[in-house]
Amino acid sequence: MQAYAPVQNSLVDRFGRQVNYLRLSITDRCDFRCVYCMNDNPTFLAREDVLSLEEYARLVKVFVELGVAKVRITGGEPLVRKNAMRLFEALGQLPGLNELVLTTNGSQLEQHAKALKQAGVIRINISLDSLDATRFRRITRVGDLAKVLRGIAAAKQAGFANIKLNSLLMRGINDDEAVDLAAFAIANELDISFIEEMPLGAMPHARQDSYVSNDQTLGVLRARYDLIASTANTGGPARYWQVPNKKSKIGFISPHSHNFCEACNRLRISCQGELHLCLGQEQSVDLRPLLRGYPEDDGPLKQAILASMQLKPKGHDFDISRASPAVIRFMSHTGG
Ligand code: SAM
Ligand code: SF4
Repeated sequence: MQAYAPVQNSLVDRFGRQVNYLRLSITDRCDFRCVYCMNDNPTFLAREDVLSLEEYARLVKVFVELGVAKVRITGGEPLVRKNAMRLFEALGQLPGLNELVLTTNGSQLEQHAKALKQAGVIRINISLDSLDATRFRRITRVGDLAKVLRGIAAAKQAGFANIKLNSLLMRGINDDEAVDLAAFAIANELDISFIEEMPLGAMPHARQDSYVSNDQTLGVLRARYDLIASTANTGGPARYWQVPNKKSKIGFISPHSHNFCEACNRLRISCQGELHLCLGQEQSVDLRPLLRGYPEDDGPLKQAILASMQLKPKGHDFDISRASPAVIRFMSHTGG
């Protein structure tokens, strides 16, 4: 009698890691041009190559049926996608999706924060790399700090709890702002995470020249605050510290100095429907032909997603000292 391998019906990879978190990019476009993320004149995808909002909603439904409970909408800048709010409203109603969260540069939050809360988004991460308007413009090339600060205020006003700032420090550009950014977060009862720059996409600057290690940033912050190592674990790559007698936590996402792959529970989908098994490796599975080729049948899509678990690598391959980027894709393409 032939022995059949058991059919796995949930997202567990070769290393026994259970995947329950999906990060979905809904556009590669953005109203900023951050120097670590994009070139100053990026080429964006043609509209027909990007999935429709209905296709994203279908993909999320399928992933939730396979055990995903948390979805982060990202980009590019997700809030510049036309009618993005329709997608948030649809996903906010999806049974089994326990956590619908968003990463944004904050530029559009002033208009959308309230509607996002009403749609069922439970948490927002907002990128903020400088509190100095001139520097903010230099880093984002076009961004308006005042608008982002109004966006953060609007998110607080809308009642979002645990708003988290994401800050990326670059040597010689904003690496002297760690304490100011942390103080801003503490004063506004926000969490903040410092992210190490990753070598995604070719840039005019050498990543090893701008790279600031989170160990260095932690040292600077510990000289100012009596930080207490927090046991908080989001299942993600950040290590957190608590500021005594304050609501804020300070986190560090350190792909270089502290590899975080062992507990990786996530997948990413690019705005054109490529399933990326790891941010720092090239393996991907193109789901768009299955979405469009089988409009009424989720079976082939599910099979491909389950089979992809065999491709999820053990870890990323970032090496900041290499001259060439570890991965050719920009963060804005895969979704940060
Ligand atoms: N536009 C939104 C924003 O900026 O928050 C969402 C997408 S953005 C790609 C998500 C996050 O990726 C941002 O916090 C940004 O700082 C981070 N990011 C972009 N390029 C990066 C890189 N090369 N290394 C590390 N983080 C990067
Ligand atoms: Fe846009 Fe976010 Fe990339 Fe900045 S980090 S260019 S805001 S996608």
